[in-house]
Amino acid sequence: MNYNKKSIEDIEVAGKRVLCRCDFNVPTKDGKITSDKRIVAAMPTIEYLVNKGAKVILCSHMGKPKGEWKPELSLKVVAERISQLLGKEVIMASDVAGEDSKAKAAALQNGDVMLLENTRYIKGETKNDPELSKALADLADIFVNDAFGTAHRAHSSTAGVADYLPAVSGYLVQKEVSIMGKALANPERPFVAILGGAKVSDKLNVINNLLEKVDTLIIGGGMAYTFLAAQGYTVGKSLVDEEKLDYCKEMMAKAEAKGVKLLLPVDTAVSPAFPSPIDAEIPVDYVDCTAIPADKMGLDIGPKACAEFAAAAKAAKTVVWNGPMGVFENPTLAKGTIAVAQALADSDAVTIVGGGDSAAACEQLGFASQITHISTGGGASLEFLEGLELPGIACLQDK
Ligand code: AMP
Repeated sequence: MNYNKKSIEDIEVAGKRVLCRCDFNVPTKDGKITSDKRIVAAMPTIEYLVNKGAKVILCSHMGKPKGEWKPELSLKVVAERISQLLGKEVIMASDVAGEDSKAKAAALQNGDVMLLENTRYIKGETKNDPELSKALADLADIFVNDAFGTAHRAHSSTAGVADYLPAVSGYLVQKEVSIMGKALANPERPFVAILGGAKVSDKLNVINNLLEKVDTLIIGGGMAYTFLAAQGYTVGKSLVDEEKLDYCKEMMAKAEAKGVKLLLPVDTAVSPAFPSPIDAEIPVDYVDCTAIPADKMGLDIGPKACAEFAAAAKAAKTVVWNGPMGVFENPTLAKGTIAVAQALADSDAVTIVGGGDSAAACEQLGFASQITHISTGGGASLEFLEGLELPGIACLQDK
Protein backbone atom coordinates (compact mmCIF):
# COMPACT_ATOMS: atom_id res chain seq x y z
CA MET A 1 0.00 0.00 0.00
CA ASN A 2 1.21 3.50 -0.83
CA TYR A 3 1.53 5.49 2.40
CA ASN A 4 2.35 8.74 0.63
CA LYS A 5 -1.10 10.30 0.38
CA LYS A 6 -2.26 13.83 -0.39
CA SER A 7 -3.57 15.83 2.54
CA ILE A 8 -5.81 18.87 2.90
CA GLU A 9 -2.73 21.02 2.39
CA ASP A 10 -2.20 19.53 -1.09
CA ILE A 11 -5.56 20.59 -2.53
CA GLU A 12 -7.32 23.93 -3.01
CA VAL A 13 -10.19 24.06 -0.53
CA ALA A 14 -11.09 27.78 -0.56
CA GLY A 15 -14.70 28.25 -1.58
CA LYS A 16 -15.14 24.49 -2.07
CA ARG A 17 -17.67 22.25 -0.37
CA VAL A 18 -15.58 19.81 1.63
CA LEU A 19 -17.13 16.66 3.05
CA CYS A 20 -14.97 15.69 6.01
CA ARG A 21 -15.38 12.25 7.60
CA CYS A 22 -14.42 12.53 11.27
CA ASP A 23 -14.47 10.14 14.19
CA PHE A 24 -17.11 11.67 16.47
CA ASN A 25 -17.96 8.30 17.98
CA VAL A 26 -17.77 9.79 21.48
CA PRO A 27 -19.06 8.19 24.67
CA THR A 28 -22.27 9.74 26.07
CA LYS A 29 -24.32 9.32 29.20
CA ASP A 30 -27.81 10.70 29.75
CA GLY A 31 -27.46 12.71 26.56
CA LYS A 32 -24.15 14.31 27.61
CA ILE A 33 -20.70 13.72 26.14
CA THR A 34 -18.47 12.09 28.78
CA SER A 35 -15.20 12.47 26.83
CA ASP A 36 -14.74 14.99 24.03
CA LYS A 37 -11.22 13.78 23.23
CA ARG A 38 -12.10 12.69 19.69
CA ILE A 39 -13.84 15.99 18.95
CA VAL A 40 -10.88 17.97 20.26
CA ALA A 41 -8.53 15.80 18.17
CA ALA A 42 -10.51 16.65 15.02
CA MET A 43 -10.34 20.42 15.57
CA PRO A 44 -7.04 21.14 13.75
CA THR A 45 -8.47 19.78 10.48
CA ILE A 46 -11.80 21.57 10.96
CA GLU A 47 -10.08 24.84 11.87
CA TYR A 48 -7.76 24.60 8.86
CA LEU A 49 -10.73 24.14 6.51
CA VAL A 50 -12.67 27.00 8.13
CA ASN A 51 -9.68 29.35 8.05
CA LYS A 52 -9.06 28.54 4.38
CA GLY A 53 -12.65 29.51 3.58
CA ALA A 54 -14.00 26.08 2.74
CA LYS A 55 -17.67 25.22 3.14
CA VAL A 56 -17.28 22.43 5.64
CA ILE A 57 -19.67 19.48 5.78
CA LEU A 58 -18.74 17.16 8.63
CA CYS A 59 -19.95 13.59 9.02
CA SER A 60 -19.38 10.65 11.35
CA HIS A 61 -21.02 7.61 12.82
CA MET A 62 -21.82 7.23 16.51
CA GLY A 63 -22.45 3.85 18.10
CA LYS A 64 -24.23 1.12 16.22
CA PRO A 65 -27.77 2.20 15.32
CA LYS A 66 -27.74 -0.39 12.50
CA GLY A 67 -29.90 1.61 10.13
CA GLU A 68 -32.39 2.67 12.82
CA TRP A 69 -33.05 6.28 13.68
CA LYS A 70 -32.13 6.04 17.39
CA PRO A 71 -32.41 9.52 18.95
CA GLU A 72 -29.86 8.75 21.69
CA LEU A 73 -27.24 8.33 18.95
CA SER A 74 -27.93 11.68 17.30
CA LEU A 75 -24.85 13.82 16.61
CA LYS A 76 -26.64 16.99 17.82
CA VAL A 77 -24.57 16.94 21.04
CA VAL A 78 -21.43 16.79 18.92
CA ALA A 79 -22.53 19.82 16.87
CA GLU A 80 -23.01 21.75 20.12
CA ARG A 81 -19.53 20.81 21.37
CA ILE A 82 -17.85 21.73 18.06
CA SER A 83 -19.71 25.05 18.12
CA GLN A 84 -18.26 25.77 21.58
CA LEU A 85 -14.72 24.81 20.56
CA LEU A 86 -14.88 26.69 17.28
CA GLY A 87 -16.65 29.76 18.66
CA LYS A 88 -19.19 29.71 15.84
CA GLU A 89 -22.44 27.97 15.07
CA VAL A 90 -22.33 24.51 13.55
CA ILE A 91 -25.42 23.98 11.40
CA MET A 92 -27.02 20.61 12.21
CA ALA A 93 -28.66 18.68 9.39
CA SER A 94 -31.65 16.56 10.33
CA ASP A 95 -30.68 13.77 7.91
CA VAL A 96 -27.56 12.13 6.46
CA ALA A 97 -27.58 13.08 2.79
CA GLY A 98 -31.26 13.76 2.31
CA GLU A 99 -33.28 16.86 1.44
CA ASP A 100 -32.33 18.81 4.57
CA SER A 101 -28.60 18.12 4.13
CA LYS A 102 -28.79 19.11 0.47
CA ALA A 103 -30.56 22.39 1.19
CA LYS A 104 -28.22 23.28 4.05
CA ALA A 105 -25.08 22.30 2.11
CA ALA A 106 -26.21 24.42 -0.84
CA ALA A 107 -26.71 27.45 1.40
CA LEU A 108 -23.28 27.28 3.09
CA GLN A 109 -21.06 30.35 2.90
CA ASN A 110 -17.26 30.17 2.89
CA GLY A 111 -16.05 29.24 6.38
CA ASP A 112 -19.42 27.82 7.47
CA VAL A 113 -19.58 24.43 9.14
CA MET A 114 -22.41 21.93 9.11
CA LEU A 115 -22.74 18.41 10.49
CA LEU A 116 -24.75 15.57 8.99
CA GLU A 117 -26.65 13.13 11.18
CA ASN A 118 -25.17 9.77 12.25
CA THR A 119 -24.11 8.04 9.02
CA ARG A 120 -25.10 4.67 10.47
CA TYR A 121 -28.73 5.80 10.65
CA ILE A 122 -28.68 4.71 7.01
CA LYS A 123 -28.48 0.96 6.38
CA GLY A 124 -26.41 1.44 3.24
CA GLU A 125 -23.52 3.04 5.17
CA THR A 126 -21.89 -0.14 6.43
CA LYS A 127 -22.69 -1.92 3.16
CA ASN A 128 -20.80 0.72 1.19
CA ASP A 129 -23.98 1.25 -0.80
CA PRO A 130 -23.14 3.24 -3.97
CA GLU A 131 -26.45 5.08 -3.70
CA LEU A 132 -25.50 6.54 -0.31
CA SER A 133 -21.90 7.13 -1.40
CA LYS A 134 -23.19 9.08 -4.40
CA ALA A 135 -25.68 11.06 -2.29
CA LEU A 136 -22.87 12.03 0.11
CA ALA A 137 -20.60 12.95 -2.79
CA ASP A 138 -23.32 15.10 -4.36
CA LEU A 139 -23.17 17.38 -1.31
CA ALA A 140 -19.53 18.29 -1.89
CA ASP A 141 -16.59 18.96 -4.22
CA ILE A 142 -13.85 17.31 -2.14
CA PHE A 143 -13.73 14.43 0.33
CA VAL A 144 -11.44 14.52 3.36
CA ASN A 145 -10.97 11.43 5.50
CA ASP A 146 -9.88 12.24 9.03
CA ALA A 147 -11.29 9.17 10.77
CA PHE A 148 -8.51 6.62 11.21
CA GLY A 149 -10.55 4.49 13.61
CA THR A 150 -12.86 3.45 10.75
CA ALA A 151 -10.25 3.49 7.96
CA HIS A 152 -10.19 -0.33 7.93
CA ARG A 153 -13.88 -0.36 7.01
CA ALA A 154 -15.12 0.04 3.46
CA HIS A 155 -18.23 2.07 4.26
CA SER A 156 -19.96 4.74 2.17
CA SER A 157 -18.68 7.63 4.29
CA THR A 158 -15.15 6.21 4.77
CA ALA A 159 -14.28 4.97 1.30
CA GLY A 160 -17.25 4.66 -1.10
CA VAL A 161 -17.70 8.42 -1.42
CA ALA A 162 -14.14 8.66 -2.79
CA ASP A 163 -15.36 6.92 -5.97
CA TYR A 164 -17.04 10.19 -6.87
CA LEU A 165 -14.84 12.93 -5.37
CA PRO A 166 -11.15 13.83 -5.15
CA ALA A 167 -10.13 12.46 -1.76
CA VAL A 168 -7.35 13.54 0.62
CA SER A 169 -6.46 12.99 4.27
CA GLY A 170 -7.07 15.30 7.22
CA TYR A 171 -4.33 15.93 9.78
CA LEU A 172 -5.19 12.97 12.03
CA VAL A 173 -5.14 10.40 9.24
CA GLN A 174 -2.06 12.03 7.75
CA LYS A 175 -0.20 11.61 11.05
CA GLU A 176 -1.27 7.98 11.45
CA VAL A 177 -0.30 7.08 7.90
CA SER A 178 2.99 8.94 7.80
CA ILE A 179 4.32 7.70 11.16
CA MET A 180 3.07 4.12 10.99
CA GLY A 181 3.67 3.91 7.25
CA LYS A 182 7.28 4.99 7.66
CA ALA A 183 7.79 2.53 10.51
CA LEU A 184 6.61 -0.31 8.31
CA ALA A 185 8.12 0.76 5.00
CA ASN A 186 11.38 2.36 6.02
CA PRO A 187 12.00 2.11 9.77
CA GLU A 188 15.02 3.42 11.60
CA ARG A 189 16.74 0.34 13.01
CA PRO A 190 16.86 -1.50 15.29
CA PHE A 191 13.13 -1.89 14.86
CA VAL A 192 11.46 -3.62 17.80
CA ALA A 193 7.82 -4.71 17.96
CA ILE A 194 6.18 -5.63 21.24
CA LEU A 195 2.97 -7.61 21.08
CA GLY A 196 0.72 -8.61 23.93
CA GLY A 197 -2.93 -9.28 24.65
CA ALA A 198 -4.87 -12.41 25.24
CA LYS A 199 -5.11 -14.44 22.07
CA VAL A 200 -2.59 -15.56 19.48
CA SER A 201 -5.41 -16.01 16.98
CA ASP A 202 -6.17 -12.27 17.01
CA LYS A 203 -2.62 -11.43 16.03
CA LEU A 204 -1.69 -14.23 13.61
CA ASN A 205 -1.21 -12.00 10.60
CA VAL A 206 0.37 -9.21 12.62
CA ILE A 207 3.08 -11.58 13.87
CA ASN A 208 3.62 -12.97 10.40
CA ASN A 209 3.89 -9.52 8.79
CA LEU A 210 6.06 -8.00 11.51
CA LEU A 211 8.56 -10.87 11.20
CA GLU A 212 9.22 -9.57 7.68
CA LYS A 213 10.12 -6.14 9.01
CA VAL A 214 11.50 -6.08 12.55
CA ASP A 215 14.88 -6.84 14.08
CA THR A 216 13.34 -8.00 17.36
CA LEU A 217 9.85 -9.28 18.08
CA ILE A 218 8.82 -9.36 21.72
CA ILE A 219 5.80 -11.40 22.73
CA GLY A 220 4.20 -10.93 26.15
CA GLY A 221 0.68 -11.11 27.56
CA GLY A 222 -1.54 -14.18 27.40
CA MET A 223 -0.18 -14.94 23.91
CA ALA A 224 3.26 -15.74 25.25
CA TYR A 225 2.18 -18.97 26.96
CA THR A 226 1.13 -20.58 23.68
CA PHE A 227 4.61 -19.80 22.33
CA LEU A 228 6.20 -21.19 25.51
CA ALA A 229 4.06 -24.33 25.22
CA ALA A 230 5.13 -24.62 21.57
CA GLN A 231 8.72 -24.54 22.78
CA GLY A 232 7.89 -27.56 24.92
CA TYR A 233 7.54 -25.93 28.32
CA THR A 234 4.71 -26.80 30.64
CA VAL A 235 2.74 -23.68 31.39
CA GLY A 236 0.35 -24.92 34.07
CA LYS A 237 -3.12 -23.41 33.85
CA SER A 238 -1.98 -20.48 31.71
CA LEU A 239 -3.95 -19.44 28.63
CA VAL A 240 -2.92 -21.74 25.78
CA ASP A 241 -4.42 -21.75 22.32
CA GLU A 242 -3.94 -25.44 21.51
CA GLU A 243 -4.92 -24.96 17.89
CA LYS A 244 -2.20 -22.42 17.37
CA LEU A 245 0.77 -24.41 18.67
CA ASP A 246 1.89 -25.35 15.16
CA TYR A 247 1.50 -21.78 14.02
CA CYS A 248 3.73 -20.62 16.88
CA LYS A 249 6.35 -23.21 15.91
CA GLU A 250 6.17 -21.99 12.34
CA MET A 251 6.64 -18.37 13.47
CA MET A 252 9.61 -19.29 15.66
CA ALA A 253 11.21 -21.08 12.71
CA LYS A 254 10.50 -18.09 10.49
CA ALA A 255 12.11 -15.74 13.02
CA GLU A 256 15.21 -17.91 13.09
CA ALA A 257 15.41 -18.13 9.32
CA LYS A 258 15.08 -14.36 9.01
CA GLY A 259 17.55 -13.60 11.77
CA VAL A 260 14.83 -11.89 13.83
CA LYS A 261 15.34 -12.07 17.56
CA LEU A 262 12.16 -13.43 19.16
CA LEU A 263 11.93 -12.60 22.83
CA LEU A 264 9.51 -14.40 25.12
CA PRO A 265 9.21 -13.64 28.84
CA VAL A 266 11.84 -15.46 30.92
CA ASP A 267 9.76 -15.12 34.06
CA THR A 268 6.13 -14.62 34.96
CA ALA A 269 3.71 -13.70 37.72
CA VAL A 270 1.65 -16.77 38.60
CA SER A 271 -1.46 -17.28 40.68
CA PRO A 272 -3.84 -20.22 41.26
CA ALA A 273 -6.74 -18.53 39.46
CA PHE A 274 -7.78 -15.63 37.26
CA PRO A 275 -8.76 -12.66 39.49
CA SER A 276 -12.49 -12.33 40.03
CA PRO A 277 -13.61 -9.59 39.99
CA ILE A 278 -10.79 -8.64 37.69
CA ASP A 279 -9.38 -5.98 40.04
CA ALA A 280 -9.63 -8.15 43.19
CA GLU A 281 -6.56 -8.50 45.39
CA ILE A 282 -4.60 -11.52 44.22
CA PRO A 283 -1.66 -13.48 45.66
CA VAL A 284 1.18 -13.85 43.14
CA ASP A 285 4.55 -15.57 42.94
CA TYR A 286 7.22 -14.84 40.39
CA VAL A 287 8.72 -17.90 38.71
CA ASP A 288 10.87 -18.61 35.68
CA CYS A 289 8.85 -19.57 32.62
CA THR A 290 10.74 -22.88 32.57
CA ALA A 291 9.19 -23.71 35.95
CA ILE A 292 5.52 -22.69 35.94
CA PRO A 293 3.76 -24.91 38.50
CA ALA A 294 1.07 -27.21 37.12
CA ASP A 295 -1.65 -25.71 39.35
CA LYS A 296 -0.92 -22.06 38.52
CA MET A 297 -1.47 -19.67 35.64
CA GLY A 298 0.77 -16.96 34.25
CA LEU A 299 -0.96 -13.59 34.44
CA ASP A 300 1.80 -11.04 33.85
CA ILE A 301 5.44 -10.95 32.81
CA GLY A 302 7.94 -11.09 35.68
CA PRO A 303 10.65 -8.60 36.74
CA LYS A 304 13.43 -10.21 34.66
CA ALA A 305 11.27 -10.06 31.53
CA CYS A 306 10.33 -6.44 32.33
CA ALA A 307 14.02 -5.52 32.46
CA GLU A 308 14.84 -7.42 29.28
CA PHE A 309 11.91 -5.98 27.29
CA ALA A 310 12.65 -2.46 28.58
CA ALA A 311 16.32 -2.76 27.58
CA ALA A 312 15.32 -3.85 24.06
CA ALA A 313 12.91 -0.90 23.78
CA LYS A 314 15.54 1.54 24.98
CA ALA A 315 18.17 0.25 22.53
CA ALA A 316 15.74 0.52 19.59
CA LYS A 317 15.34 3.36 17.08
CA THR A 318 11.76 2.39 16.27
CA VAL A 319 9.34 0.64 18.64
CA VAL A 320 5.79 -0.47 17.90
CA TRP A 321 3.70 -1.72 20.81
CA ASN A 322 0.28 -3.34 20.74
CA GLY A 323 -1.37 -5.23 23.59
CA PRO A 324 -0.89 -5.47 27.36
CA MET A 325 1.79 -7.68 28.93
CA GLY A 326 -0.58 -9.11 31.52
CA VAL A 327 -3.99 -8.74 33.11
CA PHE A 328 -3.32 -5.04 33.50
CA GLU A 329 -6.84 -4.31 34.74
CA ASN A 330 -5.58 -5.70 38.07
CA PRO A 331 -3.04 -3.42 39.85
CA THR A 332 -0.89 -6.40 40.95
CA LEU A 333 -0.79 -7.75 37.39
CA ALA A 334 -0.25 -4.38 35.68
CA LYS A 335 3.48 -4.21 36.44
CA GLY A 336 4.64 -5.65 33.11
CA THR A 337 2.39 -3.35 31.09
CA ILE A 338 3.54 -0.34 33.15
CA ALA A 339 7.20 -1.33 32.69
CA VAL A 340 6.78 -1.46 28.90
CA ALA A 341 4.90 1.85 28.83
CA GLN A 342 7.64 3.40 30.97
CA ALA A 343 10.37 1.99 28.71
CA LEU A 344 8.70 3.50 25.65
CA ALA A 345 8.31 6.82 27.44
CA ASP A 346 12.02 6.78 28.37
CA SER A 347 13.22 5.67 24.93
CA ASP A 348 14.69 8.09 22.39
CA ALA A 349 13.28 5.88 19.63
CA VAL A 350 10.28 6.67 17.46
CA THR A 351 7.63 5.04 19.65
CA ILE A 352 4.26 3.99 18.29
CA VAL A 353 1.48 2.58 20.41
CA GLY A 354 -1.41 0.77 18.72
CA GLY A 355 -4.87 1.72 19.91
CA GLY A 356 -6.96 -0.02 22.53
CA ASP A 357 -5.57 -1.25 25.84
CA SER A 358 -1.93 -0.22 25.37
CA ALA A 359 -2.96 3.28 24.29
CA ALA A 360 -5.26 3.58 27.30
CA ALA A 361 -2.46 2.38 29.58
CA CYS A 362 -0.06 5.04 28.27
CA GLU A 363 -2.68 7.73 28.71
CA GLN A 364 -3.73 6.65 32.22
CA LEU A 365 -0.10 6.51 33.34
CA GLY A 366 0.51 10.02 32.05
CA PHE A 367 3.12 8.89 29.48
CA ALA A 368 1.19 9.97 26.38
CA SER A 369 3.23 13.12 25.77
CA GLN A 370 6.46 11.09 25.81
CA ILE A 371 5.27 8.69 23.09
CA THR A 372 5.82 9.71 19.46
CA HIS A 373 2.44 8.48 18.31
CA ILE A 374 -0.53 6.88 19.98
CA SER A 375 -2.83 5.54 17.32
CA THR A 376 -6.48 6.54 17.52
CA GLY A 377 -7.66 3.28 15.98
CA GLY A 378 -7.44 -0.12 17.67
CA GLY A 379 -8.70 -2.36 14.86
CA ALA A 380 -7.36 -0.05 12.15
CA SER A 381 -3.86 0.07 13.61
CA LEU A 382 -3.76 -3.74 13.91
CA GLU A 383 -4.77 -4.10 10.28
CA PHE A 384 -2.12 -1.55 9.40
CA LEU A 385 0.49 -3.66 11.21
CA GLU A 386 -0.81 -6.72 9.38
CA GLY A 387 0.19 -4.96 6.17
CA LEU A 388 -3.39 -4.90 4.93
CA GLU A 389 -4.71 -2.26 2.62
CA LEU A 390 -7.08 0.01 4.57
CA PRO A 391 -9.99 1.06 2.32
CA GLY A 392 -10.28 4.51 3.95
CA ILE A 393 -6.64 5.21 3.13
CA ALA A 394 -6.23 3.35 -0.14
CA CYS A 395 -9.04 5.55 -1.58
CA LEU A 396 -7.05 8.77 -1.00
CA GLN A 397 -5.07 10.38 -3.80
CA ASP A 398 -1.38 9.48 -3.97
CA LYS A 399 1.07 12.34 -3.68
P1 AMP B 1 -6.49 -8.27 23.53
O1 AMP B 1 -7.91 -7.83 23.48
O2 AMP B 1 -6.19 -9.50 22.76
O3 AMP B 1 -5.53 -7.13 23.25
O4 AMP B 1 -6.23 -8.70 25.03
C1 AMP B 1 -6.35 -7.82 26.10
C2 AMP B 1 -6.68 -8.62 27.31
O5 AMP B 1 -5.69 -9.61 27.50
C3 AMP B 1 -6.72 -7.81 28.56
O6 AMP B 1 -8.04 -7.71 29.00
C4 AMP B 1 -5.86 -8.61 29.53
O7 AMP B 1 -6.46 -8.77 30.80
C5 AMP B 1 -5.72 -9.97 28.87
N1 AMP B 1 -4.50 -10.68 29.24
C6 AMP B 1 -3.25 -10.22 29.20
N2 AMP B 1 -2.38 -11.12 29.67
C7 AMP B 1 -3.10 -12.20 30.04
C8 AMP B 1 -2.77 -13.46 30.62
N3 AMP B 1 -1.51 -13.77 30.91
N4 AMP B 1 -3.77 -14.31 30.85
C9 AMP B 1 -5.05 -13.99 30.56
N5 AMP B 1 -5.42 -12.82 30.01
C10 AMP B 1 -4.46 -11.93 29.75
